[in-house]
Amino acid sequence: MTEDSHELLLPRERRGTLALEPTVYGRSARGVALECFGPQFGPVEILLLASMHGDESDTTVVLSDALRAVRPDAVRNPAVLCVNPDGVMRGTRCNARGVDLNRNLPTKNWSANPVYYRGHGQENQDMRLGAGKQGASEPETRALIALVERLKPKAVVSLHAPLACIEDPEASALGQWISGKVKLPLLPDVGYETPGSFGTWCDEQGITIITWELPAEPLPDILASHAPVLRKLITARYPEEVVDGSRATIGPA
Ligand SMILES: [Zn+2]
Repeated sequence: MTEDSHELLLPRERRGTLALEPTVYGRSARGVALECFGPQFGPVEILLLASMHGDESDTTVVLSDALRAVRPDAVRNPAVLCVNPDGVMRGTRCNARGVDLNRNLPTKNWSANPVYYRGHGQENQDMRLGAGKQGASEPETRALIALVERLKPKAVVSLHAPLACIEDPEASALGQWISGKVKLPLLPDVGYETPGSFGTWCDEQGITIITWELPAEPLPDILASHAPVLRKLITARYPEEVVDGSRATIGPA
């Protein structure tokens, strides 16, 4: 079964560029435009995010590939291709001020304690980053909060790598649907404490949050297996079209 109707897709020759003009929703610490593609008036159904961690830029490539394939008039759910552009440009997990943006949300459990992480393929969780001076101390965090408050999504899907799982504390219908489509396990958490995380913040706002951890596989394989599912999420009505597998295809398959 195909994930999407060809009526919703652009011919391949037009998929090299982004057909939609983005809205600038803020600026990074170094002044780079933070861009959101698609509908800009809430409430929207699903908000898609990539590259909150700058060393996970495959997430941007996969989400961009999906967005570029969809006809502009079929884009129903907005997408941020890069939450942390300074980090991507510098190849760092953190932003330009050394802060892990996924520990910088003003949650009840936010902590100033340093964050230790494991570099890709490395054994020890011994690289130290900051969580910011306080929750939402970073411009990227404040801009993202304002965007979510403006768009009022029912659900947010945030792409990370490379833990190869779908993290969804609610085990929501959307999380189950994604897990089934990309054949990754659905987990309630990633197995360690994440104070100040975006997931915890969304949870406190009553927003369904799915953390989609891409697998440590070659990019062509990830594009083949994950981009079609993302195309579906960009165009789908939620929850109607992403709950029941029998209704998961838009239009003629
Ligand atoms: Zn990440």
